[in-house]
Amino acid sequence: MNIMNKRETQLILNELGIIPNKRLGQNFLIDKTIVKKIISESQISEGEVVLEIGPGLGMLTEELLKFSKKVYAYEIDFKLFQYLKEKFSQIENLEIFNEDILKANFPPQIDIIVSNIPYSITGPIFEKVFYNEKPPRGTLVIENSIAERIFIQNKYKTFSRITVSFNAFMIPVKKYNISRFKFFPVPRIDLSLIIVKPREDINPFLLSDKNRSFFLRFVAGIMPYKNKNIVNAIYLFLKNENVINFPKPKILQYLKNKNLNNEKVTKFKVDELVIISELIFELIYETL
Ligand code: SAH
Repeated sequence: MNIMNKRETQLILNELGIIPNKRLGQNFLIDKTIVKKIISESQISEGEVVLEIGPGLGMLTEELLKFSKKVYAYEIDFKLFQYLKEKFSQIENLEIFNEDILKANFPPQIDIIVSNIPYSITGPIFEKVFYNEKPPRGTLVIENSIAERIFIQNKYKTFSRITVSFNAFMIPVKKYNISRFKFFPVPRIDLSLIIVKPREDINPFLLSDKNRSFFLRFVAGIMPYKNKNIVNAIYLFLKNENVINFPKPKILQYLKNKNLNNEKVTKFKVDELVIISELIFELIYETL
């Protein structure tokens, strides 16, 4: 490990009067070999536009700027924002925003998101940046336990809400484990670098805002019942949504009409769950 960089990081933080904030997931990368790996895995071409979430002290930003046409960086911490503004004041292809990534309005064209993200808001970040009509590619450092759930492994334990939502829009390509000692302060969780790309065949049902938000709600609503059969899970979802008038035999019949069997939730493929969400959506909103 590059010890010098750890000392450098501590020194800058001290100078800025910043005590790393856990709530903001402030764990700064201190190893340049990881930065290099992130860059090489990103395969950014010269004309591409990059989005960085939480640039921190700009360790990754500095390299991203060398390989891309433009970098947009969103940093919520005002002290870090000021530091970055100063540090990169001579750089023209960087725009830094002192904004919460979850509230930001992104520029229209983003080709790739490259970030060591604030780990505690991984789910909301994914929803904002990837669960869209035309998502970008991504090279991200995230919590390892979440990375494991993104890659479909046909394992009951890891097949979860994020597995289904993520894989409806994105293709997880590669995953590398990263030691937590490559960050300062050392996080309490294990981390992974993931490389992801958008699906070219996102189900057309997911292309409108209204349908997409129904799908995400549907997935969130049935996955707590993943140990049950799909009919029971749908029944409980509808009950929690206060949709009445859907007894189980009726749900079963609708599924049968579409040649879907009443199996355990975890037995279904992601694409089948998208189809089922569309079916339920139609039942609730269109045929009533
Ligand atoms: N990318 C840097 C820092 C990672 S730490 C590095 O690898 O060294 C996570 C960073 O995200 C911190 O700088 C933190 O201030 C920032 N951050 C946390 N929540 C944020 C949010 N909602 N929007 C934008 N930035 C956020």
